Amino acid sequence: MKACVLHKKEDLRFEDIAEPQITEDHEVKVKIQAGGICGSDQHYYLEGGIGSAIVVREPIVIGHEGCGIVEEVGAKVQGIKKGDMVILRPARPCFRDDCYYCAHQMYSYCENMRHLGSAATFPHVQGLFAEKVVVHEAQCRVVQNMKPEIGAFAEPLGVAYNGVHSLGEVIGKNVLVMGAGPIGLLCAASAKVLGADRVTVVDIRQKPLEIALEMGADEICNSKDNPEQIKKWCEHKGHFDCALEATGNGFACVQTMQMVRPEGTVSQVGMFGTGHQPTDLGPFATKGLKWNAVFRFYEEFGPAVNALEKGLINPLPLLSASFPASECVEAMKAAISPDTCKVQVHF
Ligand SMILES: [Zn+2]
Ligand SMILES: [Zn+2]
Repeated sequence: MKACVLHKKEDLRFEDIAEPQITEDHEVKVKIQAGGICGSDQHYYLEGGIGSAIVVREPIVIGHEGCGIVEEVGAKVQGIKKGDMVILRPARPCFRDDCYYCAHQMYSYCENMRHLGSAATFPHVQGLFAEKVVVHEAQCRVVQNMKPEIGAFAEPLGVAYNGVHSLGEVIGKNVLVMGAGPIGLLCAASAKVLGADRVTVVDIRQKPLEIALEMGADEICNSKDNPEQIKKWCEHKGHFDCALEATGNGFACVQTMQMVRPEGTVSQVGMFGTGHQPTDLGPFATKGLKWNAVFRFYEEFGPAVNALEKGLINPLPLLSASFPASECVEAMKAAISPDTCKVQVHF
């Protein structure tokens, strides 16, 4: 069968690999329909890893955002059958009693985590940009009548849901979203659906800001063209009740803190690359802010899939382009371009 295999930095190939087989009773074999290219996939392609900690050391099938049709189920799988459409959750914790984090339902921190398409562990965990994958049944959520291109948004939406979840109560709140990348835009839509009174999205690029309005944002601000507005929102110790920081840029993060009122919460959804950490934590300390890091998601997955299934959130304005998997290199280049939002591959 074919898969999109990254051999090393800038060496991505659509090539034959062995078809995976079910080896455990709780496993499911899925025929992939569509997958979204994530920022981490782009880092793997451009830099051969993420920072200095995660390095691609052997060929890896990339991709962790996707959905497909069940082809075969293991002997003890319940509630999932051949022919079902499933949305895939990339995290596969060990579920063992002797794992502290699994025993305490803190699955994202499982010490034996196998995360689809991740080079964080060695051997690497192969991803889902392949004709078929084998996953644990707990990684599958059955849906009815969902377009594959919508299903492939469930994983990034799960991250956005976790971002809003970590803010605590958002009902009636005036929420800032910093950054209009795919995750920031999904954060804006999620905050709105989960009860925010007002959502404002800030970025330095106009095109994604326009998409933010389609995703339900009430207000947008181009901080490059309109720095006076940002200054205004910093006055009187801030303007917003809470914020989702989705840039992973230290400067933008400090700005976010300056715009949030005292004792508000900043949910840190963006990941800081090496050298991009915030250096001025003055507003954080002097306003008694709460700064919550968001790492992946777990229990947010079900509600996120549900929001897509019931049409509460339409992610399609984010979809810039779609390519057959055989053109994965073109797809990757399109994803890297600053002119696109989300790019998908399909099988
Ligand atoms: Zn992702
Ligand atoms: Zn575990």
